[in-house]
Amino acid sequence: MRFDTTNPPGNEGPAAEFLARKFRDAGLTPELAGAEPRRPNLVCKLPADPSRKCGRPLVLSCHLDVVPADPARWTHPPFDAVEADGCVWGRGAIDMKGFATLAAMTVLAIRRRGLPLNRDLIFVAVADEEAGAELGSQWLVENRPDLLGNDPEYIVNEVGGFTLPLDGKRFYPVQVAEKGVAWLRLTIRGTPGHSSLPSEDNALGQLGEAMARIARARLPWHVSEPARDFLGGIARESGPLKRLFSPLLLHPLTGPALLDRAIADPARRASVEAVLRNTANPTVARGGSKINVLPGSASVDIDGRLAPGQTAADLVRELRAVLGDPTGGRFDFEVLRESEAVAFPPDTPFFEAIRAAVKRHDPEGIVVPAIVPGFTDSKNYARLGAVCYGFYPLQLPEDLNFAALFHGDDERIPLDGFRWGLETLLDLVVDFAGA
Ligand SMILES: [Zn+2]
Repeated sequence: MRFDTTNPPGNEGPAAEFLARKFRDAGLTPELAGAEPRRPNLVCKLPADPSRKCGRPLVLSCHLDVVPADPARWTHPPFDAVEADGCVWGRGAIDMKGFATLAAMTVLAIRRRGLPLNRDLIFVAVADEEAGAELGSQWLVENRPDLLGNDPEYIVNEVGGFTLPLDGKRFYPVQVAEKGVAWLRLTIRGTPGHSSLPSEDNALGQLGEAMARIARARLPWHVSEPARDFLGGIARESGPLKRLFSPLLLHPLTGPALLDRAIADPARRASVEAVLRNTANPTVARGGSKINVLPGSASVDIDGRLAPGQTAADLVRELRAVLGDPTGGRFDFEVLRESEAVAFPPDTPFFEAIRAAVKRHDPEGIVVPAIVPGFTDSKNYARLGAVCYGFYPLQLPEDLNFAALFHGDDERIPLDGFRWGLETLLDLVVDFAGA
């Protein structure tokens, strides 16, 4: 965490080299590869025992870059990795240098104990995840799939594995799906002219109204299988009332109104609602260049996220309905970037192994397959045919809110919970990939 890998500019090189040295010291041969020498990806393979090899590779993947941190808002400096109050504090503790450490220690522990493996175990630390993954997982998948074992069967990545306390129970969501992305640009044309005259056709005025409508919009429910598995998995373990309630919550007609009553806290409600529908947030607006000239056009970039099965065209249709422009006469939408949601099956032997490993280390813990609203490197890895799960095992006390720490101030992990995570991950890998 003491390597400042804030992206941009990333500068992951020294952190990757540090890890590479640890692997070299253990007699392994890590490889650094990438499009930019200062921003390499690190890969290190622990090969299977040739006489007992019977499975495709298992990959442990993390990213070494982090999002910016404003030191003025932190209790301890974000790049000092201060140990205090039972926690290690620093940017990346949760997202995701903590997992980089767990995964590296798991590989090194197996190496030191000389445990034979039934499949190749591959450690990967990529660059550039926080800025779109172009130099990281995307580059590896497109240029060096051999470093990922060509056809890895399972990849362990973010986001999941942490404790989620609900209704007096301890859940462990494991990511099996992530929403898609539809980044859009909405442009509105007005009539340019002298702004000393009143104008009903002011592009900025119309843009303002459109942005407000989009920001407030509650788009239709699209209940996908991963969303059903996730929310149903939690409801199943809750009280009988909640169990009855959950089908209504998932229903497109009754869901929106019921959700407001079911979950009072707006932040928690938002994270549940996000998995049930497409979302669209205006984030960057542009328009006008001079105080006494009516702008001829104005535009806003919209961060759209797609429920599984949805496309950018579907989202545009929904937004046109919100704007009262179903046929597209007034508003132009341009798709800047689109990628569909990815979902992996939760009924694999490896998912069962995760469930069993958590049970061994927390007998009361409940593993549920989860869908997350953001995107991760798993989007790229899916192209190799790998099944990707978000599992960074980490036990958190009730008062540490994972969602608030993710990209948030005072990011930190409890040392006890980290140690628990190391034992759980090592046990999982040895159980599944040990010969
Ligand atoms: Zn991350």
